Amino acid sequence: MQPKATELRRDVELDPLTSLPNRRRLRARLEQEIKASAADNKSVSLLVMDLDAFKEVNHTMGHLVGDELLQQIGQRLSSTLAPPNVLARLGGDEFAIVAPGCGAEDAAVLAAEVLRALEEPFDLNGLRVNVQASIGIALFPDHGRSADNLMQRADMAMYAAKRAKSGYALYSSEQNHNSQRRLLLMGELRRALVQDQLFLVYQPKVNLSTGRTTGVEALIRWEHPQFGVIKPNRFIPLAEKTGLIMPLTLWVIHAALRQCHIWQQLGIEITTAVNLSAWNLQSDQLPEQLEGLLKSCAVDPSRMQLEITESAIMIDPTRALANLKRMRAMGLKFAIDDFGTGYSSLAYLKRLPVSEIKIDKSFVSNIPEDEDDVVIVRSTIDLGHNLGLEVVAEGVESHETLRQLAALKCDAAQGFFMSQPLTDTDLTSWLAESPERLRRLLAKPPRGKSSISSLRGEPA
Ligand code: C2E
Ligand code: CA
Ligand code: CA
Repeated sequence: MQPKATELRRDVELDPLTSLPNRRRLRARLEQEIKASAADNKSVSLLVMDLDAFKEVNHTMGHLVGDELLQQIGQRLSSTLAPPNVLARLGGDEFAIVAPGCGAEDAAVLAAEVLRALEEPFDLNGLRVNVQASIGIALFPDHGRSADNLMQRADMAMYAAKRAKSGYALYSSEQNHNSQRRLLLMGELRRALVQDQLFLVYQPKVNLSTGRTTGVEALIRWEHPQFGVIKPNRFIPLAEKTGLIMPLTLWVIHAALRQCHIWQQLGIEITTAVNLSAWNLQSDQLPEQLEGLLKSCAVDPSRMQLEITESAIMIDPTRALANLKRMRAMGLKFAIDDFGTGYSSLAYLKRLPVSEIKIDKSFVSNIPEDEDDVVIVRSTIDLGHNLGLEVVAEGVESHETLRQLAALKCDAAQGFFMSQPLTDTDLTSWLAESPERLRRLLAKPPRGKSSISSLRGEPA
């Protein structure tokens, strides 16, 4: 028997996983509500919600569990919302709500209710999983008069909420301005890559038992002709979104390798670490590209280290692991960066070909005051050592922190207390002077507030 036209329409307008209206149905419904509200002079709110860190859940626990979570979220939200509000799944981990007759204040109350409804953990095969989300709100007629316009602006507001970690955010023209500015900046970054506006600074990693500098981390900077030096947090996330991260990472690796070659020639024995982004790890071409660059710069692969994060691996662990193994076989070393902040899976940690973990600065910087952080740092050091890994503490800002880390048998430390990130020439002179200063520094607290970072460094 042929399905009826209404059944067919139902099929193409329903999300098969959650049985909620899909994007197409939501858009039609929003247009309908806009028309009706324009006639009655009323508002309509559109809320767009995106889950935080859903990808990690999906990849640590498997797609089936991820699907189950989305279904449970759909059910919970459906039971929270009453008509005339319409809930839809836009795709992936994005949901949306059309709330007819709802102005800015009501929409904020609704967003807070939705977030509260998600607070209770979800039960996935006996495992309790906490879910967080960010919601963007756009209003008819204030923020747009068409469904497409409102959807785009609710999306912008959602990203603003995510960045600000504020739970929800109402669209503002400033966000539009910001997003236009970001687009402009991206165009400029593309040019910066070829116009020599990027440069690297290097921050030493100091061995806590010998006081020797065993390695440096290369950190990118952008000398913008108008805005001055721009820090990576302002442009790396954008580069990741636009695909510019691939050429940018290759630029960083190339520049770091040229510097490695110079240090190698000077007889300076240090490892140089470069940060890889999530997308770099998913690229099957990266191992070959790296091999080519190592050869052309005549650098011994053991001199180079790559820093990766747990969340980057979790995007596609099988692929990341295969690429890591290829690069490991070439003689490159790996460190897990920001350890403790990601969705870590100990099972993976054991299987990864890494030689070092870097404890995130959020745990390290407060150890003199915070007993909980001491416990976390101590356990991480023990865990690392039990797995045969070197442990580096990041964000060391005081002598007391350094002293406690040494007592906890942490292998190495990096932070403003030893040195700010330095330009290549400053670092080369720093290395020449550092052993004696570091030995003194490890032995006893400096007088007053001075530290060896008082050597020329970056302005904070
Ligand atoms: P990260 O990899 O965790 O790098 C360490 C960051 O901590 C650096 O910030 C460094 O300047 C800062 N830092 C060092 N010591 C201290 C300290 O004692 N206290 C505090 N509060 N901070 C300290 P920076 O250079 O602004 O870089 C920020 C992030 O940008 C890096 O975090 C990394 O994730 C990313 N990044 C930097 N360069 C690159 C790059 O070439 N490629 C990629 N993909 N990402 C990069
Ligand atoms: Ca790093
Ligand atoms: Ca880090």
